[in-house]
Amino acid sequence: MSWEDNVRTVLPYVPGEQPKDGQKVIKLNTNEMPYPPSPKVAEALSHYDANSLRLYPAADVAPLRDAIARYHGKGSDEVFVGVGSDDVLSVAFLTFFNSDKPILFPDITYSFYDVWADVYRIPYEIRPLDEDFHIVKSDYTAPNGGIVIANPNAPTGVSEMDDVRFIEDIVAANPDSVVIVDEAYVDFGGVSALPLTEKYDNVLVVRTFSKSRAFAGMRIGYAMGNSKLIKYMNDVKYSINSYTMNRPAIDLGIAALSDNAYFEKTVSAIIKTRQWTIGELRKRGFKVTESKTNFVFASPEDISAKEMFAKLRERNIYVRWWDKDRIRDWLRISVGTDGEMQTLIDAVDDIMRG
Ligand code: PMP
Repeated sequence: MSWEDNVRTVLPYVPGEQPKDGQKVIKLNTNEMPYPPSPKVAEALSHYDANSLRLYPAADVAPLRDAIARYHGKGSDEVFVGVGSDDVLSVAFLTFFNSDKPILFPDITYSFYDVWADVYRIPYEIRPLDEDFHIVKSDYTAPNGGIVIANPNAPTGVSEMDDVRFIEDIVAANPDSVVIVDEAYVDFGGVSALPLTEKYDNVLVVRTFSKSRAFAGMRIGYAMGNSKLIKYMNDVKYSINSYTMNRPAIDLGIAALSDNAYFEKTVSAIIKTRQWTIGELRKRGFKVTESKTNFVFASPEDISAKEMFAKLRERNIYVRWWDKDRIRDWLRISVGTDGEMQTLIDAVDDIMRG
C-alpha cells in the first residue's frame, strides 16, 4: 500500500501547443482571434487602478454578470460567470451530472468532456456522429444522467442548424436530465439554444469571451439558464473557490462587452476569411466541412493529414491534428487574418508540389 494507491489519477486534457516566447509562428491551433480585443479594453487597461487589486473581487461577479444579463436580456439570477467556459463547464459537470446513469455526448467533440467525466467519476457513453459529422438525434433519447452537446461542434465546425428544433427536441425528450449546450463558437454563424432557456428549466447554454471577443488570455466564460440551475452551480462554486474572477477580468470584460460595433466587425471579418479559406482548400482537393466557427476542418487529398500537419509545423505554421479514429485524416485550422491564411495556402501549395 502506498499513498499513490489513493491518488485521483486522470489522463489530462491536452491543449494546443504554445510557441516559446519570441518564436515567430502563425498560430492556427487554438482558435484564438487574430485581431485584438476592442480598443475600449486597451483604454480601460491604460488607466487601470492597481490599488484596487488590494481588495477581493465581487464573489458574485455582479458587475460583469449583470452586464452579460443585460446584453442577452436575461435576469441576473439566470447568469453564471466563470474563469473561461472550461471553468463553467467543469462546474456544470460537477453540479448536474451526479447520476448513476451515464451522461451522453458525441464520439467526436470537445475532448475535455470525457476528461471532466473521468476526473469527477461520472459514467459516460459516447454516441457516434453520422458520417457527415452530424448528431443523430435519436441517440439522445436513451436513459441518461445528462447530455452535453457542442453546437457548433468542435473540432468539426458543424452546426445543427438546418432544423431549429434539433436541440429543442433533445431538451424536451429529457425533462429529467440537464442538457448542456456548449456555444463557444456560436457567434460565427451558429443558431443559439438561448431561447430554449425561457421555455425549459433543464437546458444550460454556455458561452465564452475567448473566441469572438478576443479574450482567451483573460479567461471569461458564462452560462445562462433557469435561475434554479444557476443557483445550484453557485452553491458548488462557493464550495470550491468563492473568488474565481479577478478584478481586471470583471472590469475589462465589461469594456469588451460594451463595444458591439467592433465585435460585429471582427466577427464578420473572420466569417469572410473562413469562407475564402474553405474555397481555396476545396480548389486544392481538400474535403472541408461547412464550418460555422472560427476554424475550418479539412482533409487533404494526396497527403496524410499527419504529414501535412508536420510539414506546416516545419514552416512555423501551427494547426491541430489528432491521432484519433475517424478524424486522423483531418486538420483543424483556426481562421487567422487574410495575410495569415494566404501564407497557409501558399505553404499548402509548396508542400503539395513536394
Ligand atoms: N468549448 C469548446 C467547444 C472549445 O473548443 C473551447 C476552447 N478550447 C472551450 C469550450 C473552452 O474555452 P474557454 O475556456 O477559453 O472559454
